[in-house]
Amino acid sequence: MNSVYDAIIVGGGVIGGSIAFQLAKRGKRVLVLEKDRLAGKASSAAAGMLGAQAELEADDPLFTLANRSRGMFPALEKELKESSGVDIELVNKGMLKVALTNEQAAGLQNKIKTQQAAGLEAEWLTAADIRKAEPLLANALKGAMYIPHDGQVSAAKLALAFTKSAEELGVEIKEFVEVCDFLTENGVITGVVTTVGEFSSENVIVAGGAWSAFLLEKAGINLVTHPVKGECFSVLTNRPLIEKTIFSDGCYLVPKIGGRIIVGATVKPNTFNQQVSIDGIATLIEKATRLLPAIKGTEWEKTWAGIRPQTGDGLPYFGEHPACKGLFIATGHFRNGILLSPITGVLMADMVEGKPNQEWSAFRLDRSVQPIFS
Ligand SMILES: Cc1cc2nc3c(=O)[nH]c(=O)nc-3n(C[C@H](O)[C@H](O)[C@H](O)COP(=O)(O)OP(=O)(O)OC[C@H]3O[C@@H](n4cnc5c(N)ncnc54)[C@H](O)[C@@H]3O)c2cc1C
Repeated sequence: MNSVYDAIIVGGGVIGGSIAFQLAKRGKRVLVLEKDRLAGKASSAAAGMLGAQAELEADDPLFTLANRSRGMFPALEKELKESSGVDIELVNKGMLKVALTNEQAAGLQNKIKTQQAAGLEAEWLTAADIRKAEPLLANALKGAMYIPHDGQVSAAKLALAFTKSAEELGVEIKEFVEVCDFLTENGVITGVVTTVGEFSSENVIVAGGAWSAFLLEKAGINLVTHPVKGECFSVLTNRPLIEKTIFSDGCYLVPKIGGRIIVGATVKPNTFNQQVSIDGIATLIEKATRLLPAIKGTEWEKTWAGIRPQTGDGLPYFGEHPACKGLFIATGHFRNGILLSPITGVLMADMVEGKPNQEWSAFRLDRSVQPIFS
């Protein structure tokens, strides 16, 4: 058996990377095992929105955590740049969650009231206000929820910055090594079995995204998870068409540094197939053009797809295996894994160190969850 680590992390996406970074900062000897390339799956497919207020309702158990995680980005941007040299391209120009119908407008106005009551900033923009803020958006919009602090980053660069920073702090990273099983003794984890041999540790953290459930079956745990494909495309513009992220039902446009706009994303449940479909991209083009007619004049860049890790109740799983001490799980971040990555790293590092935290209870592994897709 190979040398002993304080912790082994399965999965080199944004969640595994963030946990590795936090554990390394606490002086732990960590090994990250990735079956493919680092950040090659959902974490590089993401649009990078930090949509704590746009994506979640104030009564969602994730809401407070998501807002705290979003608040960690400015300091994290500096810290990751210093340790890895990678700029995560944090943009804090806010988000417009737009209404195309009167019904959507009423829903958003209610959402604003609830969020303001929870102490968060959000305001209603009329159609005339939108024209001033974003003159190229469609005239047909009924209004928008303006969320000044829902920013965005480069998802792929964030994931890379976490793993590079972790490596700078001494974390070992092995790509193209798949974890196939766990080693245990008397209900305690002792290591993992991989395609290149065994590695030992008294702490193993599974952060395998949509693929976590396959591995966890080996440890006798059946979490209710679903792979959900998302397709995107990007265009290049020679002048900025929009400044803020535009978010609507079934389509968003994220203006990136350097004149790109990412348009996403389809939602196709129960598939690990990462091919991009004509039908998915055609739907996105139709929706994007409805929001921003000027997008028709931009230059095509590329398409891609990724698999989001969804759970039956939409909440991630954070916890320790009930019958196997030292086996931890952090998965199921669905549409918000980029946003939630900083706080997940901290929560999981606390858990590995045995520090109690009430915030875990809504995300525990043994909660009752029903499948949402058959
Ligand atoms: C199109 C799209 C758009 C999105 N947009 C946003 C957004 O704007 N904002 C946001 O916050 N989130 C967004 N998301 C969601 C976000 O991308 C995910 O929630 C997040 O990336 C999940 O990270 P992860 O590390 O858990 O999973 P992944 O990035 O999938 O990483 C898991 C890794 O584990 C590896 N692995 C699995 N099993 C094993 C094994 N047995 N051994 C070794 N390695 C293994 C995999 O190869 C993979 O690299 C989007 C997702 C998609 C698909």
